[in-house]
Amino acid sequence: KTEQSRIRYYVHGEDEAYLARLQMLEELKDAINNDDGELFFNYQPKLDLSENKVNKAEALIRWINKNGEFVNPEVFIGLAEQSGLIVTLTRWVITKVIEQLADWQTQGHIINVSINLSAQDIQHPDFVDFLLQQIALFKVSASQITLELTERDLVENEELVVERLTYLKSLDFDVSVDDYGIGQSSLSKLKRLPIDELKIDKSFIMKLDQSETDQDIVSSTIALGHKLGLRVVAEGVENKESLQLLREFDCNLVQGYFVSRPLKAKEFIDWYLSYEI
Ligand code: C2E
Ligand code: CA
Ligand code: CA
Ligand code: CA
Repeated sequence: KTEQSRIRYYVHGEDEAYLARLQMLEELKDAINNDDGELFFNYQPKLDLSENKVNKAEALIRWINKNGEFVNPEVFIGLAEQSGLIVTLTRWVITKVIEQLADWQTQGHIINVSINLSAQDIQHPDFVDFLLQQIALFKVSASQITLELTERDLVENEELVVERLTYLKSLDFDVSVDDYGIGQSSLSKLKRLPIDELKIDKSFIMKLDQSETDQDIVSSTIALGHKLGLRVVAEGVENKESLQLLREFDCNLVQGYFVSRPLKAKEFIDWYLSYEI
């Protein structure tokens, strides 16, 4: 093959990938606008170790497209972030999750739900107004909502983000640092941020029982988190041994397949009602 035909082939491959992404983006827009069940949530319980109770969960978005195919959230969330559609998607997420909280509330269940945000969401001029408008509309309390942001999302445009989160915290929303440990922030940097919760990234937790290094990292992160007055959550708890270690390290909450997979709303409530041991 000549150099030229190889180049043409390469460009053609890139074009195809580009077109596939454009198509996925169009389908995602339709899924949001039509709101006919392609997009929904699974709720993963967060187990409180000291009280042995579950009244918190993380809302994780799911997309089964119109061809019945499961689309990985990492893929379509990434695409939504790159294209700016994330702001529209997150508004939809906020409305749906708050609607679910209101529904559970009428059934007598007061649940705190974590919502994943992107940097663009928290920096958007209308974010705070929109959130407050939705909780007022559905008569849900701010104390039932935890906002999850990664370290990177928190330090991008830091002054604005800190100001917004400080205000939201004063209204009783909780703020959580997601995927903690894989970014570059030191805990001393976190001290300056208005946060309530530290969520240790699952890459440190998944093999905790087999890795002494991970055990050292996790136990010292928990201890330092507590010194800073933060609640510490471990995500990705996949076995009993890791759960036992996290208990010994005094971790506040655990989340992972060993406790429960992310569940459909109805399954979550059934699980929650039967959990009390
Ligand atoms: P994340 O926020 O770090 O969510 C935790 C991910 O770990 C979820 O993947 C969850 O299903 C998975 N997980 C839970 N327990 C275990 C475990 O024991 N072992 C392992 N290996 N994994 C576990 P999922 O649902 O595929 O979501 C992937 C990412 O997509 C999330 O990572 C989050 O960054 C993003 N995402 C999900 N829902 C939303 C949303 O509504 N809005 C935004 N902006 N992002 C979302
Ligand atoms: Ca999260
Ligand atoms: Ca994220
Ligand atoms: Ca995470």
